[in-house]
Amino acid sequence: MDLRFSEADQAFREEVRAFIAAELDPAVRRKLAEHRSLAKHEIVAWQRKLNTRRWATPSWPAEHGGPGWSAVQRYLFLDELHQAPAPEPLSFNVNMIGPVLIAFGTPEQQRRFLPRIANLDDWWAQGFSEPGAGSDLAALKTRAIRDGEHYVVTGQKMWQGMAQHADWMFTLVRTDASAKPQAGISMLLIDMRSPGVSVRPIVTLDGRHEVNEVFLDEVRVPADLRVGDENRGWDITKFLLGHERTGIARIGMTRRLIARAKALAADVPAGSGTLADDARFRERAAEIEIELQALQITQLRLLDAMRHGAHGPDARASILKVKGTELRQAASELLLQAAGTRAWRCADEFDEAAHADTTIAATYFTLRAASIYGGSNEVQKNILAKTMLGL
Ligand SMILES: Cc1cc2nc3c(=O)[nH]c(=O)nc-3n(C[C@H](O)[C@H](O)[C@H](O)COP(=O)(O)OP(=O)(O)OC[C@H]3O[C@@H](n4cnc5c(N)ncnc54)[C@H](O)[C@@H]3O)c2cc1C
Repeated sequence: MDLRFSEADQAFREEVRAFIAAELDPAVRRKLAEHRSLAKHEIVAWQRKLNTRRWATPSWPAEHGGPGWSAVQRYLFLDELHQAPAPEPLSFNVNMIGPVLIAFGTPEQQRRFLPRIANLDDWWAQGFSEPGAGSDLAALKTRAIRDGEHYVVTGQKMWQGMAQHADWMFTLVRTDASAKPQAGISMLLIDMRSPGVSVRPIVTLDGRHEVNEVFLDEVRVPADLRVGDENRGWDITKFLLGHERTGIARIGMTRRLIARAKALAADVPAGSGTLADDARFRERAAEIEIELQALQITQLRLLDAMRHGAHGPDARASILKVKGTELRQAASELLLQAAGTRAWRCADEFDEAAHADTTIAATYFTLRAASIYGGSNEVQKNILAKTMLGL
């Protein structure tokens, strides 16, 4: 069952679906359906196709190259990408640094970076967290000392997603060590080819290399690459995190996990039928699907509020983050349960099915991190307790 959309919205959904069917490389679709990682060139090629229609930047205003979509259209577009499945435009680019530069950047920064952000000519990384500063981001220690027309930046960043591909990193640095923690932070744009920048991989529990440590050793950054005023980086951070979280529910992705679990379960003998007929399996799948439906309505409400001028951070973005990730994790558990011992099969290049199965356990492990990144779920619950319950 779906929510009822207007005829115009349905026509829009069909247009997106037809574009994906015509333009998406089937090999990329298949990799995503099997929860495999994509190569950089595959992500870039797809974003450039979207950008020929201004579709790579769904939330940007038309004057900066966005498509001028309504909140519902943005929702439908993402839902179609997730269900296809097709890659989302790179979030670091289009949901994070793009909106930040539109809201806080100088006209020169906007001219220089926005078109390249949209077309993925530059790949951006998010340089916020540090070994001692994650949930408590304001504790960050990476320091930037002004030296004429430059800042000299020294410190260590941690957990930078896909930074191995990055050309640039939007980075939080401490520019005033004597001020209160939140008051002494600025945002700098750092060219990853600058002398003194090094990226070291972190291989996670799922065996994948998606996150990294980034070391900054006396990196010279031109002062005109500071975003906003000096020591006002915290306001920008709050704005950015609100944007980051709205895209985080990923309902279509959870639906695909459930669909894959059901398809596998139909193959697993249980009692006189298959696991797909098992009452407890069906009940668990239905529970997740019902909660997803409720989450979808919450997401539409938030998008509608944004359309009417509300800007993040909105507490409902925290609900999307918490519930969206809990449901994706629950769906990955269902998939693991349906796969049973198949989840532990080794890759065999001659056996396509076995090859696809190897991603099931990895996907389960990958999704453990979903309740941590983008602000941990515990911290989101603190935000909800404060803003919605007044505790
Ligand atoms: C896969 C992955 C990708 C990431 N990508 C990026 C990226 O691209 N760029 C970037 O800058 N960062 C990134 N991060 C970092 C991420 O934002 C942090 O890991 C996250 O904010 C948590 O910080 P931490 O790891 O320091 O844990 P901590 O903050 O030390 O938290 C440890 C535990 O304590 C809990 N906790 C902490 N404070 C409270 C509190 N006040 N109340 C209740 N519980 C609390 C947390 O919920 C968590 O369970 C990524 C992380 C992961 C795992």
